[in-house]
Amino acid sequence: MIQKVFPIRTSLRAPPYEGGAFADTLGRPLRDLRISVTDRCNFRCVYCMPRDVFGPDHAFLPHDELLSFEEIARVAGVFVGLGVKKIRLTGGEPLVRRDLHRLIGLLAKLPDIDLTLTTNGSLLAKQAQALKDAGLQRITVSLDSLDDVTFRAINDADYPVARVLEAIDAAAAAGLKPVKINMVVKRGVNDHQVLDMAQHWRHTGHIVRFIEYMDVGSTNGWRMDDVVPSAEVVKSIGDHFALEPIDPGYAGEVAERWRYKDGAGEIGVISSVTQAFCRDCNRSRLSTEGRLFTCLFASSGHDLKSLVRGGASDAELRDQIVAVWRARGDRYSEIRTAETARLHKVEMSYIGG
Ligand code: SAM
Ligand code: SF4
Ligand code: SF4
Repeated sequence: MIQKVFPIRTSLRAPPYEGGAFADTLGRPLRDLRISVTDRCNFRCVYCMPRDVFGPDHAFLPHDELLSFEEIARVAGVFVGLGVKKIRLTGGEPLVRRDLHRLIGLLAKLPDIDLTLTTNGSLLAKQAQALKDAGLQRITVSLDSLDDVTFRAINDADYPVARVLEAIDAAAAAGLKPVKINMVVKRGVNDHQVLDMAQHWRHTGHIVRFIEYMDVGSTNGWRMDDVVPSAEVVKSIGDHFALEPIDPGYAGEVAERWRYKDGAGEIGVISSVTQAFCRDCNRSRLSTEGRLFTCLFASSGHDLKSLVRGGASDAELRDQIVAVWRARGDRYSEIRTAETARLHKVEMSYIGG
């Protein structure tokens, strides 16, 4: 998919960054970087890459358009110099990118960062130890149902639950624990599985996070009626296993955390539709082809790749990132309506979840 480039106007350029804190127009710092390492995936989850759009004729990015591992690591280093504390690799499916552990090795050398990755788990069992050895600290595995028929229908790749469960075990055995498990809850599709998921992961040390179905991209046919509000999820679990809220681990944490009163562990809910958390949003996204996006629901990004490949210095890259961030006023989830849901937005598989 070709994205339109909007170069930064000179008037938006910030004065050279001298160090110290800087913030966007709503006072939010830059702390989190999500890096999409590929726009490809071996699943076709119906809410993310519907097969009628992402079929055999879909044009994925050619390999030379992708940032190389060295380019990604360089850009990430500049972000870390600007105060980023957390880096998450995502996609598409990050583990379809060959030798991903090599990128992990490069990123793990950056100082004081929390380095994690989100995967559908299909290629994880084989790679878990290499990823851990390369310096990956934590991992999130997506799993939308424990019921095989439901799960195969959602991933639309006939992929069985059992293999994802094996991958979660392999990740834990490699030391990538606690594993976080993402479940996107869609009304009438897998909401009947919420309690089973909660029950299955109690006492395991792993943390399920129930995610509200979002209107990312323009292809998944999102409707508000399909969203199961997190409050409903918490209530249905809490009716069976008493829950109490936990304070956020840090400012801007996406998941709201709850723990079982009987000590069986914790869950999280991510309520970007019913309880927008834009106010604290400190996340930036680097797309597979090196564009910087300041919101998951953006329609365009800022081209960093041509700077990287055009010989820009780290200081020039840093100035550009600071200028983009200082001009940022995104708060899509706070202003979402049925109309905004129909606007053109980049696909999640391209920008990175
Ligand atoms: N392929 C990897 C995976 O599935 O974990 C990483 C990329 S995926 C885009 C990242 C996360 O976004 C996954 O947990 C996925 O379930 C979630 N996701 C994708 N589309 C979504 C949507 N429309 N609403 C909410 N979450 C979504
Ligand atoms: Fe692939 Fe992840 Fe999107 Fe599913 S959610 S289609 S696994 S990128
Ligand atoms: Fe951040 Fe955009 Fe999501 Fe709001 S809608 S929380 S600004 S990514």
